[in-house]
Amino acid sequence: MKIPNLFLPLLLLIMLASVAAGSGKEPMLLSVDHEQREQGQYFTIMVTGAPEEPALWFMERSYRMFRQADSSWSALLPVENLTLPGSYILLLRSGAFEQKRSITVAANNRSIQQIALDSLKAELKATEIEKARVKAALHTESPEQLFVGLFLRPAAGRTSSLFGVKRSYNGGPVESYHKGIDIAAPQGTAAQSTARGLVILTGSVDEGFKVHGNTVVINHGQGLVSIYMHLSAISVYEGQLVEAGEVIGNVGHTGISTAPHLHWGTYLYGTSVDPELFEGKVVK
Ligand SMILES: [Zn+2]
Repeated sequence: MKIPNLFLPLLLLIMLASVAAGSGKEPMLLSVDHEQREQGQYFTIMVTGAPEEPALWFMERSYRMFRQADSSWSALLPVENLTLPGSYILLLRSGAFEQKRSITVAANNRSIQQIALDSLKAELKATEIEKARVKAALHTESPEQLFVGLFLRPAAGRTSSLFGVKRSYNGGPVESYHKGIDIAAPQGTAAQSTARGLVILTGSVDEGFKVHGNTVVINHGQGLVSIYMHLSAISVYEGQLVEAGEVIGNVGHTGISTAPHLHWGTYLYGTSVDPELFEGKVVK
């Protein structure tokens, strides 16, 4: 039998509609915003069509995914600054559904910086209290997204040190890298929150913050946290909700610091990523 041409598109539509109705749900889809990112950057992972939180694995670590308003799931997946460049597998699992995706990490080629500290400050070691409190705060993962709109630069001033620069203190071996950017600014300059969030830590030199100096940590939700260090004064309290641009304290050089500056760090799931990825941008 010959089917008139007019009916063919209609027939196709009916067939598609019955497939969708028969399955009862849309198919699960994984999307990744970049095939390649540099050390210290992050991938945006999005999953649609998953009724439950999917399991996300990267470099032998699992990451929480967070429910979005449109009922998709997302994660800002950090690439640690010392990750060896190369290809890595991203694994997503939900029920019987499993998907693998190859993603590439490229070198960011940050330099090695020699830092001279006077003998008094070089002897200062982080206290147990500041190490424990800062670590716990930076690993905060809460489901509600508090950040909205543009992320702001937290102080006016030039960038005096980039994120990711490897560091040697007083000519010693490279043991660490710079987990944030430094903004050089006069003592007392206003320090502001980069985005909306909840103040989850205020720590002072008097309380034992000998290396970080007076410090504020803000939880922006969904694994994203920011830190502000070496402040001369703190003007917020733990539990306070702050808006983007709200003053949280003043620039200083408390703790290990050679001159007044704001150290600004951004963390995803406790891993330091480059704050310049957020500044002036809307993160989704
Ligand atoms: Zn710094």
